[in-house]
Amino acid sequence: MPEFVFGVDVDSVLVELTGPVLSLLNERFGTDFGLEDPVTQSGEGWLLREEIRDFYWGLFHDEAFLAKAPPVSGCQEGMRCLRRLGRIHIVTARLPALFTSTAKWLETNGIPYDEIIFASDKVAVAAEHGIGHFLEDTPEQALALAEAGVEVFLFDHPWNRLLEHPRVRRVAGWSELIARLAGYDQDGDTETQRGTKGLV
Ligand SMILES: [Mg+2]
Repeated sequence: MPEFVFGVDVDSVLVELTGPVLSLLNERFGTDFGLEDPVTQSGEGWLLREEIRDFYWGLFHDEAFLAKAPPVSGCQEGMRCLRRLGRIHIVTARLPALFTSTAKWLETNGIPYDEIIFASDKVAVAAEHGIGHFLEDTPEQALALAEAGVEVFLFDHPWNRLLEHPRVRRVAGWSELIARLAGYDQDGDTETQRGTKGLV
């Protein structure tokens, strides 16, 4: 039976950031931004305000903030599902200095995986490790992976709504992804399904 090799992004795929970020932004800047109007791929939204943009990107280097961020709903169950189907390489473009705190967050939140890799060139990582399927939310990464032949499950967010590609499948979240994988995560004719249709 073939074993799948998955690549899984961290921020906004495993770590829930939008909600906690918005709470901080609205508190600090006296604004009333909602989940659906942060930054879009077409360049609209609250990231146009420079002081907010600086504060926002600073949070991605803020170990205390990241350590307290909650997991994306359903990600533990989803990762257990992926693990039954194959290997998991967690691949993040976070700064390498965040390795220890990121690994601790994954352990604290009960996320199973085989390896964690810090790299901004995810296409190179996918090629090196034979990653055939990637879970991602950043449109630039998703497009590069898809164009390199990797099947992408794109976690839907306002900033990636413009991305369309034959190898990019948009999912609302982990529950939808788990449902899509359900046919492959059980006994019976699973092997036949894999052989004829692939993991889509
Ligand atoms: Mg991400």
